[in-house]
Amino acid sequence: MSPFDAQAQDLVNLAARDRRRTLAPRHGRDFASNDYLGLAASGLLEAAVRDALDRGVPVGSGGSRLLRGNHDEHVALETEAAAFFGAGAALFFSSGYAANVALLSTLPQRGDLIVFDALVHASAHEGMRLSRAVAKAAVHNDPEAFDAAITAWRHDGGTGQAWIVVESLYSMDGDRAPLDALAAIAERHDAVLLIDEAHATGVFGRDGRGFADGLAGRGNVVTLHTCGKALGSEGALVCGPAIVRDFLVNRGRGFIYSTAPSPLIAAVVRAGLRALTAPERRDHLHALIDHAQQALAPHGVTPSGSQILPLILGDDARTMRAAAALQQAGFDVRGIRPPTVPDGTSRLRISITLNVTTDDIDTLAAELGRVLA
Ligand code: PMP
Repeated sequence: MSPFDAQAQDLVNLAARDRRRTLAPRHGRDFASNDYLGLAASGLLEAAVRDALDRGVPVGSGGSRLLRGNHDEHVALETEAAAFFGAGAALFFSSGYAANVALLSTLPQRGDLIVFDALVHASAHEGMRLSRAVAKAAVHNDPEAFDAAITAWRHDGGTGQAWIVVESLYSMDGDRAPLDALAAIAERHDAVLLIDEAHATGVFGRDGRGFADGLAGRGNVVTLHTCGKALGSEGALVCGPAIVRDFLVNRGRGFIYSTAPSPLIAAVVRAGLRALTAPERRDHLHALIDHAQQALAPHGVTPSGSQILPLILGDDARTMRAAAALQQAGFDVRGIRPPTVPDGTSRLRISITLNVTTDDIDTLAAELGRVLA
């Protein structure tokens, strides 16, 4: 008998269903990371660290933002982010996960309705689980499903605030949300639109502002820009009307009761944001995406139009075998299984970053042909 028998049995069950996870070392050419612009290990961010250290920016914040942890570097980042994304205000979190949990558990109130896209990220689900509002799933990327859910709720006597929760670019499918249609529905129902731009920030929109750039500054739009993906470091910026920032500072438990992010990282995120205004990295990435779509589509990869190119195999075991074979051949391609994706849609999630070349993509295509034959 061990006190962890239940946990051990759970792991055995996961293994029997080809769903047990392990932490694999980083190895092979990068077709797995979210370091889309190749900034993570760049001289640009290294220089930002050196510059910040020279300016006396500390590594640790020393406490919650509400106590001693609030540093000028956080404030400068938030001011610059609000200006860049065209929002009334911004608030910096230590991760996108923490930001989504804080947003969804804090903003919607008892008596409100949250309608969320069926494919939103686990962190949004976590926030909704903690929320007192009722949450209803809408069919992926179907604006009418959102409209119908809010209409039905009002019809049944719902009088609170409606919230629409989507990603602008879905993390496992690489497809775009119909943001204009969703924004129109939000207007019609006086709903708030919460848009997770995690995978679009830095890659799409004017200077990499994301797909919601055209909606910036609206009084009913809140965007989340994570900093661990195209921006190359970590953290997340919630951007929206000033009241959202003020409310999260006062009521967001994950913000209040947590050590503030490293001021050094805030300085690095500032440099990452500044880097977005230069188009070269983004142009290069889009050229690689075009090349990859053409090279990989014949092997069954979905040409999503973005840097996230899924190859849906369906079967969990087959997916993991294919991923292992590609890894053996020197390509870091990871298999993604349920519950991260819906049952029966296990896939290779191929992501295109500046860490690879067109030659790498061509050799991956050839290897895919062999592995899937
Ligand atoms: N939202 C989406 C859509 C994501 O894909 C992720 C990360 N996988 C997150 C939020 C969480 O962000 P972070 O990694 O900064 O915690």
